[in-house]
Amino acid sequence: MGFGVDRRRPGQHFLSGFRGTAHRLYLTTGISMEMPVINACEVEECAYNTEGACHALAITVGDVRHAHCDTFFRTPAKGGDPLGIGQVGACKMAGCRHNSQFECHAPGISVGYVESAANCLTYSPA
Ligand code: SF4
Ligand code: SF4
Repeated sequence: MGFGVDRRRPGQHFLSGFRGTAHRLYLTTGISMEMPVINACEVEECAYNTEGACHALAITVGDVRHAHCDTFFRTPAKGGDPLGIGQVGACKMAGCRHNSQFECHAPGISVGYVESAANCLTYSPA
């Protein structure tokens, strides 16, 4: 289990690390919310990826036209929370049927290569 600050809600803290779930327990407010879990990511060259799992606390997907993982980057070191499982913090793909107000409402997503770029494989045109 990990402990951190929600990047979208500065000042609020949460417990994470429930693999396969999307729980966020806000200690300051008692309000909980869920973000979609990244069930798998095959982009092992990404700094946040170890053994096919994403460990970024909240990724951003999309640039309006393409459902790429905007959090992807290459570096020799590995990052993220090794005990946590990645989740979708925001998504700009308004044309996806899982998207509402630039937030993803899929129960979970998968990420992999599309034309050599890291993409959300769960993207589905509305
Ligand atoms: S989902 Fe994105 S940030 Fe996470 S490991 Fe895959 S490419 Fe990297
Ligand atoms: S499933 Fe759709 S809304 Fe969710 S992250 Fe992927 S492209 Fe965005």
